[in-house]
Amino acid sequence: MADPKKARPGNAPGDFFVDRTCIDCDTCRWVARGLFTEAGGGSVVSRQPRTPDERRLAFLALRACPTASIGCGGDKSALKDADFPLEIEPNLYYLGYASPQSFGAASYLLVRPGGGVMVDSPRFHEPLAKAMEALGTVSWMVLTHRDDVADHARWVERLGCKRVLHRDDVEADTRDVEVQPTGSEPFALAPGLALIPVPGHTRGHCVLHADHRYLFTGDHLEFDEEAATLRAFRDFCWYDWGRQTESMRRLLALDFEWVLPGHGRRVHADRARMKAWLEDCVEWMGRGGR
Ligand code: SF4
Repeated sequence: MADPKKARPGNAPGDFFVDRTCIDCDTCRWVARGLFTEAGGGSVVSRQPRTPDERRLAFLALRACPTASIGCGGDKSALKDADFPLEIEPNLYYLGYASPQSFGAASYLLVRPGGGVMVDSPRFHEPLAKAMEALGTVSWMVLTHRDDVADHARWVERLGCKRVLHRDDVEADTRDVEVQPTGSEPFALAPGLALIPVPGHTRGHCVLHADHRYLFTGDHLEFDEEAATLRAFRDFCWYDWGRQTESMRRLLALDFEWVLPGHGRRVHADRARMKAWLEDCVEWMGRGGR
């Protein structure tokens, strides 16, 4: 639980606060836009919620926070109405409950005929598992890369799904992952559902392309609101920027309307705009990404 005695300096006065355990993962700043901001290497409450909808968003951020760094010293009755999975659009859900092991990475659930897909792992939370079950069978847990695996083993034990992680990103903790594709070719999980290897951020990073609509991008690609276009994380490329640039170029052959990253901002746009943004990103990466 967040401790008001350890509140970070700069929180706007009122019920909600962020304490000094914050790891600056950014989650609250996009879950509850306008209510949290970055200050001095962490988040603070920039403005207290004014409406029931805003209060619900603040409670969603509280639940999503990987380190329980957000507290509320006032009325908590709205907390029961603020929970995950959070519907983004029909059949697409953000799972919240970020894990400190993945530095607060976002994870998603895509409900599909024949079985849903979980993308990356939130921290394990039994009520979330129950809520996911209520949405239908989960057949797959796709792990985009080695960093965002969090509580993967507990989720698989609980939901009975199969994990997928490219062999080049398998480590001791993930050696029992059920499906370990190799090489650089797309790997089909089901009709309309393919894992696409995109080495760069890590050697075995993959994105998940689903139904010609969704691209779950892990730490490979995000929407940069300041640049107003798609971007890769130049300062967080652990393997090879040149390979990542090549991987990005390969994505130009895909059609999609959503980019759903682990870190950074997700975005929805029509396919033509998405293609133009991706072309801009590839060109920017070719210039060194600065
Ligand atoms: S979600 Fe939690 S850890 Fe992440 S920036 Fe906000 S307060 Fe800090």
